[in-house]
Amino acid sequence: MSTVGVRALLRAALPARAGDGDAWEGRAPVLRWGRARDDDGRGASGDVPGVGAVSGESPYRNEAWRVTTPRRFFPGVVVEWRMYSDRTHGSLLGLACGDALGRPVEFNSASKISAEHGRLDEMVGYGMWNQPAGTITDDTEQALCIARSLVEQQDFDPADIADRFVAWYDSGPFDIGHMTMKAMSRLKHGDAWDEAGQHVWEQSREGQNAGNGSVMRCPPLAIPYASDWDRLVEVSRQSSQITHADPRCAYGCAILNLTIAGLLVDVDTPLQDALDYVGIDAPDELVTALEPLARGDSPGTLETSGYVVHSLQTALHDGLVSDSAEEAIVTAVNRGGDTDTIGAIAGAVAGARFGVSQLPDQWLNAIDETDELERLATQLTNVG
Ligand SMILES: [Mg+2]
Repeated sequence: MSTVGVRALLRAALPARAGDGDAWEGRAPVLRWGRARDDDGRGASGDVPGVGAVSGESPYRNEAWRVTTPRRFFPGVVVEWRMYSDRTHGSLLGLACGDALGRPVEFNSASKISAEHGRLDEMVGYGMWNQPAGTITDDTEQALCIARSLVEQQDFDPADIADRFVAWYDSGPFDIGHMTMKAMSRLKHGDAWDEAGQHVWEQSREGQNAGNGSVMRCPPLAIPYASDWDRLVEVSRQSSQITHADPRCAYGCAILNLTIAGLLVDVDTPLQDALDYVGIDAPDELVTALEPLARGDSPGTLETSGYVVHSLQTALHDGLVSDSAEEAIVTAVNRGGDTDTIGAIAGAVAGARFGVSQLPDQWLNAIDETDELERLATQLTNVG
């Protein structure tokens, strides 16, 4: 393989910040796994003078590569990873597409959606919340809060995210869940980020204490922490704790984000890997609901309530088994129920599977926040 080819591989594979000496000196740097191909479309290995070795070892597939030990700083390395980029962008934009497609029919039954829209597969205006076509809701708005905080703080800062949630709450959002609203009120009255959600949870009875309000917003965390699964579990749980302290919500966020992190590097069994990683720490209800999906089974009934276990089971099913990102999102939304959130979660998963290039242009063009989400997805790969 030519040096040019290896350099192309490095350009494609290194998401680290060029110029950051700390990232490169002293010990083997922590770099990410991913797919990369040389100029001829083959996998690549070799050495670049001044950079180091490019290794073809991979825990996943033959075409996944690890870049190892660039001992000397190489200023010419340009950070760009096309495959990874397509998938990271796909995860955030898929979330927004599912949210916006589901918004006008939120809480409608499948039969009502069918009667009014046939198979709803394009952005329509008005309906629930009486908004123009392509309008996002709290799912994407809170995901934006998390993504902006990660980029501006260059780390996970739950107090900063809680502040952004409060500012968003003060803007008067048309769609907001009960637990989130209560937690916002407590935050405004002085609770710390890790107190408000805990108090709300302790005062909620079973049946109203494990909503999907934290799972729907958590996918931005999967991008910067995709290669550090201990940290990804920790930040996912803490981000849930701000409003949803129930272990089913907190571990739901962790399992969803681990699954997305696996998809970003094209593992074969993303959900099984995620369940294996959290192991016995995860609540039984979650594991019981998700293990059949990880084995490739499709449950006979898929619920569409706002209960986090139902939302995750249904959305992960649609996100992981559908033949395209569009099919995943359309299927999830047309089930009815909590359509925007189940669509958003399915979209985040399917977007990470298929990439933003597989999302319909007419959907992306209808969403005002598409450009910002694209920009944030790129910036999130450089956080930390
Ligand atoms: Mg919503």
